[in-house]
Amino acid sequence: MEEKSGRYFSEYFEKAIKNDPRYMYQAINSLKKEFVLFTGPMFGGKTTRMLSELDRYRYKGRSIYAFKPSIDDRYAESKIVSHNGGSIDATTIECADDIVDFLLEAGEFDSLNNKFVNGAPVIALDEVFMVKRAGEILPYLFKCGATIIASTIQLNSDGNPFSEILNIMPYATRVEVCPAVCSICGADAHYTEKIGGRKDFEVEVGGKDLYQPRCFYHFSYF
Ligand code: ADP
Ligand code: MG
Repeated sequence: MEEKSGRYFSEYFEKAIKNDPRYMYQAINSLKKEFVLFTGPMFGGKTTRMLSELDRYRYKGRSIYAFKPSIDDRYAESKIVSHNGGSIDATTIECADDIVDFLLEAGEFDSLNNKFVNGAPVIALDEVFMVKRAGEILPYLFKCGATIIASTIQLNSDGNPFSEILNIMPYATRVEVCPAVCSICGADAHYTEKIGGRKDFEVEVGGKDLYQPRCFYHFSYF
């Protein structure tokens, strides 16, 4: 058990058995790992929710490593930024294997033994659908002990699911659907309508100029 959970459990547990019961909470809490998925359409508040979740982990004293796809250059290159202005520093990646490389270089990860060296960190990835191999790498890091906090659109603007999301969804310990407000009628919007740009439904980075959140009735593809 200690082997899997790393530094936090042993440190806190030692303090707890020296008769300071406050540390028992930290010991137990450090064993708890989550795979949280914030999903929904664009403007649904996925990134906002992710930032507040990471804030809580920061207060819990956990090490946080945040990543974002390099093609998402909407607000800032090396920050995860929400549409309402919240942000956190993040490392940009081309593909999900870069997360493992980053952790190896930081001396946090032992890939021979598939375990974390300094206790299990929290790994955050925004816009998962834009990151190739996220469907393999996020479950792998979760199995190695990391807590994963991920945010992503789940459906393309033609109404089809992204394959990366289909691969990670079964590993999620918590899925929070974040609906936006339909840009036409004000109902809950679970879909993202493409209103400009390319017509081929390949990933195209954009904001309100290209995408609008829509409810079931105002989404063209259902
Ligand atoms: P996401 O990551 O899901 O795209 P963000 O967390 O970055 O969403 O941004 C959510 C914010 O977007 C909301 O708090 C709100 O201020 C803003 N927003 C703009 N348009 C809409 C809309 N149509 N419905 C809901 N929120 C909107
Ligand atoms: Mg977002």
